[in-house]
Amino acid sequence: MPSPKDSEQQPAERNHPSLEWPVGMARRSIEMTVMNYCGLTTVLVVAGFVVYRFFTGDTTGALINAVIVAMLATVLALGRVPRFRQTALILFGFIISLSCLLSAMLVSPNGLLWTYLVLWINFLVLPRNLAIGCNLIITITLTASFGLFDSLLHQISWVTVAVLISGFGLVFTNQLREQRRMLSELATLDPLTGAGNRRLMQHDLEKAVAERRRGRRPATLMVLDLDHFKRINDEFGHEAGDRVLERFVEVLRDELRTEDGLYRLGGEEFVVLLRDMDVETAEANLDELHGRLSGKVQGPDSPLHFSAGAAALKDGENWSRWLARADRALYEAKRAGRDRLIIA
Ligand code: GH3
Ligand code: MG
Ligand code: MG
Repeated sequence: MPSPKDSEQQPAERNHPSLEWPVGMARRSIEMTVMNYCGLTTVLVVAGFVVYRFFTGDTTGALINAVIVAMLATVLALGRVPRFRQTALILFGFIISLSCLLSAMLVSPNGLLWTYLVLWINFLVLPRNLAIGCNLIITITLTASFGLFDSLLHQISWVTVAVLISGFGLVFTNQLREQRRMLSELATLDPLTGAGNRRLMQHDLEKAVAERRRGRRPATLMVLDLDHFKRINDEFGHEAGDRVLERFVEVLRDELRTEDGLYRLGGEEFVVLLRDMDVETAEANLDELHGRLSGKVQGPDSPLHFSAGAAALKDGENWSRWLARADRALYEAKRAGRDRLIIA
């Protein structure tokens, strides 16, 4: 924190929690694992059938299988590109749904067993409503294909298991997504204010640095520290201090653009990541932003002011040096008398 006593510590270079997995999403999601595992197995098995059918003279069968292999292989390759992952998962769900329908209806009633797996996988790879739609189509179409079943009992048994699997898949994936959302929140948000925590901040700053390197996209960082905040705690209690921190974050969030990042660095110190803001824009706007915000939140007895330091990301700079520069500017603002913004 930028009080004179610890300024030499280079706050940004104090140990930050290292990010072992990308914030908000496990490195390898269960959806991708299921698609890759099932997709690759199917590609290998069906590719074997292509060769077998071709050499036994079933050219049409070989061609149909080859088309399935080609579609699945394309989707698996697509899934390796991060920005196409969602599309790949949806296409994968459609392809396996169609393949299981065709294989049960045109190739062999043994395909009914394969259908159980597809009904389950659909809930993992497709958005919920699409999965429900696909599973309804599969279940209704196959139930109405009387020729597939030995007897009415067989038909009823098949439908019962199909409905149970879909129901279980729905409940399981709802739980999975809810727990994942909670885990992501716990891992990335500050519990008091709801601002991002240091883990999320480091992740986002590293991303901003990488984007600048690749696309030359500018970014500016602002570190804020409330002025004489300790006095509020001392005179009105810790609870009153907490309410002020919550209110400050609310007000700040209202003023920022949706693409900006807001994080609690610790105590009463916050970081704002202003994406796409270069040094000229920062110089032209940030002083006015500080003037508008400082004093806007009412403390227990007087308006709450803050000091700030800003730094535009430089070429070749890493996230911690960038943050350290903004932090040093904040320290200068404190030393120059507080309630002001200094740009590094
Ligand atoms: P300066 O203008 O130099 O920044 O003065 P200050 O009093 O704001 O600075 P200092 O860093 O000395 O005090 C920060 C205080 O913030 C000390 C600590 O008790 C308080 N604080 C840190 N985290 C919390 C919190 O979560 N809730 C509350 N209520 N207070 C906190
Ligand atoms: Mg402080
Ligand atoms: Mg302070």
